[in-house]
Amino acid sequence: MSLKHLVLGTMVWAAAVTGLRSEEPPLRALIVDGQNNHDWRGTTPLLKQPLEESGLFAVDVATSPPGGQDLSGFRPPFQDYDVIVMNYNGGLWPEPTQRDLEQYMADGGGMVVVHAANNAFPNWGAYNEMIGLGGWGGRNEKSGPWVYWEDGQIVRDTSPGRGGAHGRQFPVEVTIREPDHPITRGLPERFVLGVEELYDRLRGPAKNMTVLATSYSPKETGGSGREEPVLMTIRYGEGRVFHTVFGHGPAQHKYAGFIVTLQRGAEWAATGDVTQPVPDDLPIPGPAGT
Ligand code: ZN
Repeated sequence: MSLKHLVLGTMVWAAAVTGLRSEEPPLRALIVDGQNNHDWRGTTPLLKQPLEESGLFAVDVATSPPGGQDLSGFRPPFQDYDVIVMNYNGGLWPEPTQRDLEQYMADGGGMVVVHAANNAFPNWGAYNEMIGLGGWGGRNEKSGPWVYWEDGQIVRDTSPGRGGAHGRQFPVEVTIREPDHPITRGLPERFVLGVEELYDRLRGPAKNMTVLATSYSPKETGGSGREEPVLMTIRYGEGRVFHTVFGHGPAQHKYAGFIVTLQRGAEWAATGDVTQPVPDDLPIPGPAGT
């Protein structure tokens, strides 16, 4: 066989390998569930599907033992993944699992916090630094300030009060506050999310946190009367966290605004950048409100 044939053969082989690899998603995501006061069995598939459909993620699921059972054997291999998607609100993890997550994030890991995952672990300090803001579980002014948006900036209200509340569900609209972040770049300044349970009065350390978007919580539906943070990023060590307060149930996971921000937030948490095209089908608020 001549040298020319050898080289050609190598190129064909390399092309075949490249072709195979291009069909494999470049990133790995791990959804953590198993305990939640919400319908995690219904929502985990609706987290998995859009991440896979982005073409960016191969997705695994780590399901903890049910509430009240021994969690000492629950130790997901966080370090094998580019992003951890938290769909968990339940019993405190054993110490080694807590340290694993802290190390993974400090070393540059990625995390996505979905809805009631910000209710979890009220007394685990590092987790609260990762999520920035949380609610319930006895959270109050000792957990950190109530963070809301007023007159074009973040307000950190340290006055006493509960951490975490919500009124009745209503048609929620989203206003982007950081249009130059990779997650929000190119999205409409305002879009309609859909009927959702909007958290308010969330409290937490709120360190190294950027509020990407807010939603108005009307007093008429039992809310706070404030522009509440709804999409956030937090830096924890070298790690990146994308936190969405949305995703109460399966119905909310089907909204375009939820899916798009989940996909973009997960990519940013995993890589620090967003390469996905901006969708052109996000519903825009009508002149009379929608
Ligand atoms: Zn909820």
